[in-house]
Amino acid sequence: MRRVHRQALPGRVQTYLDNKAQATAGMQDIESAWKTARQTKTLETVVGILQSTMGPRERCMYCVDSHGSDIDHFWPKATYPNRAFLWPNMLLCCTECGRFKGIRFPLSGAGDPMLVDPSAENPWEYLDFDPDTGNLTARYDVKSGAPSPKGESTVQVLQLDRREGMAEGYRQTYRRIVSRVRGALAGDAIDPQQFAQDLQQADDHGLLGWCFGPVGRRLPPFAELQRKVPDAWDACVAEVISIEGHSQ
Ligand SMILES: [Zn+2]
Repeated sequence: MRRVHRQALPGRVQTYLDNKAQATAGMQDIESAWKTARQTKTLETVVGILQSTMGPRERCMYCVDSHGSDIDHFWPKATYPNRAFLWPNMLLCCTECGRFKGIRFPLSGAGDPMLVDPSAENPWEYLDFDPDTGNLTARYDVKSGAPSPKGESTVQVLQLDRREGMAEGYRQTYRRIVSRVRGALAGDAIDPQQFAQDLQQADDHGLLGWCFGPVGRRLPPFAELQRKVPDAWDACVAEVISIEGHSQ
């Protein structure tokens, strides 16, 4: 998963959504209203904006592996119809993630979503990556001494620890990143900024946040980069911070 930065919608699109939200307020059966709206050019524009946010391959915002083809309502519209036309509630999703998530939307005792919203938070605060299997798992929380509950339920809902095709995609990206880091370690002169951008280009799955985060940075190629080519390391960390909006 990767941190996604939501763009503002063009004025007329936002106005359309606002009007729809108003017109459907209090409506319990939102499905038909949504179906009709979904067929409009305006909603196609919304899908296009979500897709362009996810790069040339228009990846799903949950698995970041398959092609994102439809709008997923983070708070499911069947259960929370008043959120059906809210832009912050719209994510881009592939058919597989859409099927796994369905109307599953676990909440904490306090009523907060127990599912990572990549457009609102940094997924690597809750998730961990296993370079051997390519699976995503819950991040171990040092403070509580247990895996992150939100990470666990995200993995469970989206089955992020048992999707072979997805795992293979993550492994390939990881290998690509590692091989570039090794290349930088072997070369005698590299431009730090260029290197950080190359890594960013190679990162199809949002893994840099993990590689330069608390777990990845202890692994050989990254630890060695920090020790031997600190300029390149700093540039990569700065790149990750600019994506995630904070330091880990
Ligand atoms: Zn997906």
